[in-house]
Amino acid sequence: MGDIHKVAVLGAGTMGHGIAQICATAGMSVAMRDLNDELLARGRAGIEASLGKLTEKGKIDEAARDAALARVRTTTDLADAVKDADLVVEAIPEKMALKLETFAALAEHAPEHAILASNTSSLSVTEIAGASGDPGRVIGLHFFNPVPLMLLLEIVRGLGTSDATVEAARAFAARVGKEPIVVKDFPGFATSRLGVILGCEAIRMLEAGVASAEDIDKAMELGYRHPMGPLRLTDLVGLDVRLAILDHLHKELGEQFRPPALLRQMVRAGKLGRKAGEGFYTY
Ligand code: NAD
Repeated sequence: MGDIHKVAVLGAGTMGHGIAQICATAGMSVAMRDLNDELLARGRAGIEASLGKLTEKGKIDEAARDAALARVRTTTDLADAVKDADLVVEAIPEKMALKLETFAALAEHAPEHAILASNTSSLSVTEIAGASGDPGRVIGLHFFNPVPLMLLLEIVRGLGTSDATVEAARAFAARVGKEPIVVKDFPGFATSRLGVILGCEAIRMLEAGVASAEDIDKAMELGYRHPMGPLRLTDLVGLDVRLAILDHLHKELGEQFRPPALLRQMVRAGKLGRKAGEGFYTY
C-alpha cells in the first residue's frame, strides 16, 4: 500500500467538499463526485469560501489557496472519479442501501490497490465492506464538521480491515493534519453515540417546554464549557443526518436512541438546519 497521491471524494455535500478541500490543501489531486453539476458547483463554492476565509486569516497564502483549488476536479461519473484513485472517501447520505450500492460499484471501478473509506457516522463499516468484495482495504474515516477546522479523525476498523489499511489511514491522518483515534466497528463508534444522545435529550427538553432553544444551548455552553450547544450543533450537522443516525442506533442499541417526534416533524418540513437556512435557529 503506497503513498496517497490521488483521492476520489464521493458526495460534495457538507462533509464531501470539506474532505476534498483538506486533501487538496495537503497536496493531493482530488476528484469530487456528486449527482449533478449544480451540487458540484455548490461543493466547489463551499471550498472556495472556506479557503478564502483561511487566506483572510493568514492561515494559508494566496498561492497555496489557488494551488489547492486547481487540484480539485469535479465529475458526475463515478467510474471517472475513482479510475486512478489511491484512496476513495465516500461521503454520501447516511443510508445503508446507498452505501452498499456505491461500494459494489467501487469493486468494479476503483484500482485494486485503492483504499476504500466511508465517512459514515454510525453505520456498520463491516457491512459496507462486504459489498466491496475485498474487506481488507475498507475502513471508516469519520471526519467532523467543519472538516477543515476539526482536529479529530475517527478511524473505524471493520472486522476484516487489514493492519496495512489501518496504518495507511494513520499516515493519511498525519498528512491532512488530523489527530486520529482508532475504534472498533460498533454502532455509533466512540463519537456519534455520545454526540447524538445529547442532541436528542436537548430536543426532548425543547418538546417538554423546559426552556427555549437559546437557553438550552447556553446551559451547555456556559455551564459545561461546550463550544456550541446541542441544538446549534444539530443545526450544523443537519437534522436529516442526525435523524438517520438516531434511527439506526435506535434499531441497534435500543430505546434511549428513539428519535424525538419533533425532530422527525422538522425534517419532514424541510427544516434541516444551517444548510437549509432554518432548523432550531434561522440563518
Ligand atoms: P449531505 O446531504 O450534506 O451531502 C451528501 C451528498 O451526497 C449530497 O450532495 C448528495 O447529492 C450526494 N449524493 C447522494 N447520493 C450520491 C451518490 N450515489 N454518489 C455521490 N453523491 C451522492 O450529507 P453530509 O452531511 O455531507 O453527510 C455525508 C456522510 O457523512 C453521511 O454518511 C453522514 O452520516 C456523514 N457525516 C456527516 C457529518 C455532519 O456533520 N453532517 C459529520 C460526520 C459524518
